[in-house]
Amino acid sequence: MASPQGSRPPLEFGGPLGAAALMLLLPATMFHLLLVARSGPARLLGPPPYLPGPEVLWSPQMLLLWLTWLGLQAALYLLPARKVAEGQELKDKSRLRYPINGFQALVLTALLVGLAVCAGLPLGELPEMLLPLAFAATLTAFIFSLLLYLKALVAPASALAPGGNSGNPIYDFFLGRELNPRIWSFDFKYFCELRPGLIGWVLINLALLMQEAELRGTPSLAMWLVNGFQLLYVADALWHEEAVLTTMDITHDGFGFMLAFGDLAWVPFTYSLQAQFLLHHPQALGLPMASVICLMNAVGYYIFRGANSQKNTFRKNPSDPRVAGLETIPTATGRQLLVSGWWGMVRHPNYLGDLIMALAWSLPCGVSHLLPYFYVLYFTALLVHREARDEQQCLRKYGLAWREYCRRVPYRILPYV
Ligand code: NDP
Repeated sequence: MASPQGSRPPLEFGGPLGAAALMLLLPATMFHLLLVARSGPARLLGPPPYLPGPEVLWSPQMLLLWLTWLGLQAALYLLPARKVAEGQELKDKSRLRYPINGFQALVLTALLVGLAVCAGLPLGELPEMLLPLAFAATLTAFIFSLLLYLKALVAPASALAPGGNSGNPIYDFFLGRELNPRIWSFDFKYFCELRPGLIGWVLINLALLMQEAELRGTPSLAMWLVNGFQLLYVADALWHEEAVLTTMDITHDGFGFMLAFGDLAWVPFTYSLQAQFLLHHPQALGLPMASVICLMNAVGYYIFRGANSQKNTFRKNPSDPRVAGLETIPTATGRQLLVSGWWGMVRHPNYLGDLIMALAWSLPCGVSHLLPYFYVLYFTALLVHREARDEQQCLRKYGLAWREYCRRVPYRILPYV
């Protein structure tokens, strides 16, 4: 994982100052969005309608509910898996093993929630609990990141991530020091990456849909679309869970506040923003427009899935018949880079598909407000920045071969841009 010269990677995210600012800004933005989504004017820019006091945010019952949710997902993680996959080769040449049972966790959660609702669980009341639940998730993320930081102090040097070990405690706390913190076979980063946050996100969406049905008699077409699209995204991520093992989060980034907060708090509470907005600001959506939006989501999904699966298949086995015919560039590391197929169109085709889907998730919310488009704006900024980070890492890893790839495929995310 080290750069060819063994040099320390440059500081990212604006160094310690940027990391400190993000640790304040990200939770503040999340609470701002939760507050404005339910307010009448629903203004993205401008002050929130009110500042919640500690009695609104802090609730021991909500903390307990949140911890029960984490405990349930951890128990599902420990159930026997349909498959155990090996991760990428580590610095010490070993490979970690990961249970592939995320989709099973989603199905079992759906069954459990279904049974609980039939037994009288008032799921439609969940939207009223979002503020204290988000506060509990934020608190958990801070405490968890502190424990991860302390755990990394006793980890062997070979277990540390390439970034996140600058010596500055604020920066390292934010970026994460240890690459794959584990207790026995329980991998904390892998567990958090796709389960409590992603499954929590679609559960919140479902609760918002149920509350809308209670309020207005039936869920709106816009609410169905947002729920359907985002459920497809989450189910797809869990169905292709193994593909997460070749992503930057798992292979490069340490596990610290950035990922812990992102996975546990940011994803469920801000990614459900469109459904939150629709509950409080119903939108009329006709069938022709709904069809266009469905088509847009399908195109985005096709590109996203095609690109991610192609790279994942190629990284697992370059001789696989599905990718064996693609043109490649050899690199000094022995690995090859795809230069045709999806990865010959732009250097991050998977980001392009993801962004098209992001727009399709916001369009059902109409064009009267900017708020539901927050996800598209934030996600564009995240992926443009992420793409630049990945380019730097690939340049360090592959040197001249990466330059040749950039020459052959000059476009980053958008074709011809
Ligand atoms: P990628 O899956 O794009 O992985 C980047 C890596 O792929 C590179 O570091 C390199 O690693 C390899 N690679 C790059 N170019 C080539 C090539 N031409 N041929 C072969 N391998 C290549 O990165 P991410 O982890 O950022 O994204 C994974 C998915 O997750 C994306 O679809 C993204 O949109 C999505 N995502 C979603 C988020 C959300 O919040 N919804 C947040 C972040 C990501 P190596 O060579 O070492 O294999």
